[in-house]
Amino acid sequence: MNPRHLFLGTRHTKNKKSLRERFRSKIRIGDEDECWLWMGALSTTGYGQIRVNGCLQFAHRVAWELVYGFISDDLCCLHRCDTPRCVNPRHLFLGTHYDNTHDMIAKGRANYTNSAKGEKHGMAKITAADAKMIRTLRAAGWLQREIGVKFGISQVTVSMICLNKIWVDNLSALR
Ligand SMILES: [Zn+2]
Repeated sequence: MNPRHLFLGTRHTKNKKSLRERFRSKIRIGDEDECWLWMGALSTTGYGQIRVNGCLQFAHRVAWELVYGFISDDLCCLHRCDTPRCVNPRHLFLGTHYDNTHDMIAKGRANYTNSAKGEKHGMAKITAADAKMIRTLRAAGWLQREIGVKFGISQVTVSMICLNKIWVDNLSALR
């Protein structure tokens, strides 16, 4: 009867495990800087896949959403570590489809080389620590445009960070 122990669901969700529980059971969690490998189904291109409301989704994208929140359709979830199976949120970053295409070309995704890491491509956008700094600077009165220039990201991205739409660090959602 404790209301805190109850939740609303449809008839169909009643006996189903939550997405978080299903997700959690298919990954091997390591240290924060290690790759967390997806142990479930893989796409033909080597990315983890999980069924969400009947649709197949990329596991790393779901990982990001579980930890940092919703990703709008115009953004791609990319790997900093160049390991398609990895779902460690700290190894993921958001980019546009344009970034994604150029990232794949830059990384020679066609042959799946594992040698080049994100930072070396100039593709690495920001880290969780950067996001914290960005919010601090904004609170201190910096303009979003100035912050964008400093971090090499768009003003829109700065705005999304400041509004806590992306890079809200909630790694515990997967633990
Ligand atoms: Zn990784």
